[in-house]
Amino acid sequence: MLKIYLKKQRKKRLEQGHPWIYQSEIERIEGDVGAEDLISVHNHEGYFLAQGFYNPQSQIAVRVLAYREDTTIDEAWFLNRIRAAWDRRLWLIPGVSSCRAVYGEADFLPGLIVDKYEDVLVIQMLAAGMEKRREWIFQALREVFQPRGIYERNDVPVRRLEGLDERSGFVGPEFDTLVEIQENGLKILVDVAEGQKTGYFFDQRQNRAALKPFMTGWGKRRGIRLGTDGQPLDVNGKAIKNPFWDGAEVLDCFSHTGGFMLHACAYGAKKVTCVDVSETALKTARENALTNGFLHRAEFVEGNAFDYLREKVKEGKHWDVVILDPPAFAKSHQALSAAMRGYKEINLQGMKLVQPGGILVSASCSYHLTVEQFFEMLAEAARDARKVLRLLELRRAGLDHPVLLGSRETDYLKFAIFEVFDRP
Ligand code: SAH
Repeated sequence: MLKIYLKKQRKKRLEQGHPWIYQSEIERIEGDVGAEDLISVHNHEGYFLAQGFYNPQSQIAVRVLAYREDTTIDEAWFLNRIRAAWDRRLWLIPGVSSCRAVYGEADFLPGLIVDKYEDVLVIQMLAAGMEKRREWIFQALREVFQPRGIYERNDVPVRRLEGLDERSGFVGPEFDTLVEIQENGLKILVDVAEGQKTGYFFDQRQNRAALKPFMTGWGKRRGIRLGTDGQPLDVNGKAIKNPFWDGAEVLDCFSHTGGFMLHACAYGAKKVTCVDVSETALKTARENALTNGFLHRAEFVEGNAFDYLREKVKEGKHWDVVILDPPAFAKSHQALSAAMRGYKEINLQGMKLVQPGGILVSASCSYHLTVEQFFEMLAEAARDARKVLRLLELRRAGLDHPVLLGSRETDYLKFAIFEVFDRP
């Protein structure tokens, strides 16, 4: 096996649980760097620290696989790690049938993503060492999950940094790539071949469920009172027929296929407006609303959320709950300041659209943005919008997206729920 010796003057990142070694941390390499890519990592004094994949082409020179010297990284090792990752989901999310089954570094399988959509698996291999062992991995996946089919969504540019090509397609026999999954009791259609990323955003599952308490309790604020027979009456004393009279009016911005919209409706929302720039995402959102029996409470607007938010502010429109779940605006550290302006803009307009005492739900999935920077951005937006925000909840990604304390990259999702008040 190759041996790598690290520089004396380096941050003790690896010892703190970070699973990567950068080229700049390497003092010297012992052995013949040919086709071999398994390496043992040693400190400057020669003490063994870890084993990993070595990739001379990547800035991430080593991805840690194991912390013991006597571990053999073979087919059985992959099978055990994949099985352990899945067992952990079954333990923590009882009865789960669809979720992220393997989350790369955070499941000690660096660069391997496996999303399970009922009996279909979608995989991404973002490290050369994983790609090299793909047959072992597919074999292990077949053994652990007995899937109806496996689809590869390796059409991601980060693969180039590892010296890998971009591609996607069936692994083995073809199958129907439209899959109906279950999430929190809802039916959700996922297109694993054409959908964004691997088809669906599993990381918000528990956050979608966290909407529940805020989806009802709005009737009273609209002046609705209960009559002596328990019948809801409007401000003029007229009986209200809509069974969702107490439900929230919700704006679901960056709705994608309607994950938040479906949950909002299930929890009693009166009306949900989905906004997304993607026609295909909205088409699926509409189908999802139909399948779950929510079509009459959902509406769909195709367009740029930045324009939509500004337009609705100009019109003086208000919602009880505004949800903002944008894509990662900051794809790199360099892009952070431009991204911050984007985040601030949508949040500033978004909070203006919340009626006083209403709810703003704001997320960011960019790991370059720390929680502190996220809150700072929101506070600045609140100042400019003349609003006061009261934090109800700060959440992260769900349990199928574990976080390694030493690795900020695994802790990317911020999800905050605020009450919004006016500041005169
Ligand atoms: N809330 C979704 C996930 C959102 S992903 C869920 O729970 O599943 C981000 C979404 O933003 C994508 O669907 C993408 O099409 C959309 N999007 C990206 N830029 C946009 C823009 N400028 N305006 C509106 N939608 C945009």
